[in-house]
Amino acid sequence: MKIFNSLTMTKQEFVPIEPGKVSMYVCGPTVYNLIHIGNARPMIVFDTFRRYLEHKGYEVNYVSNFTDVDDKIIKAAIEEGVSPEEIAQRYIAECKKDMEAMNVKPATTHPQATLEIDGMIAMIQELIEKGHAYEKNGTVYFSTRSFRDYGELSHKNLDDLRSGFRDLKVSGEEEKEDPLDFVLWKPKKEGEPFWPSPWSDGRPGWHIECSVMAKRYLGDTIDIHAGGEDLIFPHHENEIAQSTCANGVPFARYWMHNAFLNIDNRKMSKSLGNFFTVRDISQKYDLQVLRLFMLSAHYRSPLNFSAELMESAKASLERIRNAAARLRDLVENGTDAVLAESEKAVLREANGFTAKFDERMDDDNNTADALSVVFDLVRFANTNVPDGAPKELAKGVLDVLLTLTDVLGLIVLTEKENLDEEIEALIEARQAARKAKDFATADRIRDELKAKGIELLDTREGVKWKRI
Ligand code: AMP
Ligand code: ZN
Repeated sequence: MKIFNSLTMTKQEFVPIEPGKVSMYVCGPTVYNLIHIGNARPMIVFDTFRRYLEHKGYEVNYVSNFTDVDDKIIKAAIEEGVSPEEIAQRYIAECKKDMEAMNVKPATTHPQATLEIDGMIAMIQELIEKGHAYEKNGTVYFSTRSFRDYGELSHKNLDDLRSGFRDLKVSGEEEKEDPLDFVLWKPKKEGEPFWPSPWSDGRPGWHIECSVMAKRYLGDTIDIHAGGEDLIFPHHENEIAQSTCANGVPFARYWMHNAFLNIDNRKMSKSLGNFFTVRDISQKYDLQVLRLFMLSAHYRSPLNFSAELMESAKASLERIRNAAARLRDLVENGTDAVLAESEKAVLREANGFTAKFDERMDDDNNTADALSVVFDLVRFANTNVPDGAPKELAKGVLDVLLTLTDVLGLIVLTEKENLDEEIEALIEARQAARKAKDFATADRIRDELKAKGIELLDTREGVKWKRI
């Protein structure tokens, strides 16, 4: 599998540190408002990449933070007359609802910056002791000159950057030894949340949060670090500097960055005011449509949001759903006939779509091409699995379709149908147990179904069920 690594600017073969395991950190949102669909892009594309890694058999430790202390959160709290914690907790809960509705899996761990302050103080202390940071009037700065490789991710000319910064002259930061030095710890201002530290009552800088949370939950060197491309400089550059200097080993082996979601060919952002929240979109569309829309472009290409593209994503999702529902129907009502040679060949060909799909995903998470394999499979199923086809054939093809859509995180059978499938499976297991005269298991399954609100009726035509 190849990944485009922003560090080397090339597609590289992915080799995890530990065989069979992947540690992955994705920078999460600052929680002061509902997330917008730009924020949803990294969530969806990296969730899909995680699902693909799992499909390939990797055990993935996936960490994504919530930045819950920040100027914008404090500003929102003052405006509403509530505490910053209340704002942060509210929007973490709302963000989780949106994630669920987009079928983004919860991370293995979702750390929150404010619960990790001790780790941040410890890392800052270590950076000071090792000569990579210095304190001035209660503020601690990272000394970028002390890290030889500073700039390696953003591939920027540091001298140009330095002179640019010097012209800007950020007020209150004249005490910095170098214009590229950045804040690790800053003293509180009146009314702001703060924590005690050896340097001042205050709070951490944004960059140190991610270095500390990645270390705590994933280790000193991690396989993959991801986020939006706007984070490359300075955020990720600074994370590399902090982590490498504190831990004495390389920080992340592969860096993945998604391009922006634009609107009218301008970046969608809260500050420009040209955004839609995920919640806005959910008023008009099933969020699976939004997910399909995001996956229809390569994650490193800019994507322009438009009503036309959303309508086309909606039609595409319908096409997949119709094919899945028809196959499902055949599984329920088709014949029990043994497969003819020609049907076995159809099944073999259908199974071959997984390899084609994997090939596209192996090429740097190419979800756009992987989606076209799904559409090819839909077309193949519509032509080669006719109405009245044997159950076994329909089930075989449906299984392939569901495996691929599940990697993309697309829900193509409605909840009821998913539930029906689970119930059918339990009923089948109960029948098998009865046949084997394992009545204890059969009864246990009957009770389990009852707990789900399903009553079984043993009739002359076989087992029927109804909701109670
Ligand atoms: P923020 O809350 O601004 O820190 O952003 C959280 C994540 O969303 C980061 O990975 C950003 O890079 C990403 N992001 C923000 N706006 C967009 C956008 N318009 N398109 C793609 N990603 C974005
Ligand atoms: Zn981060």
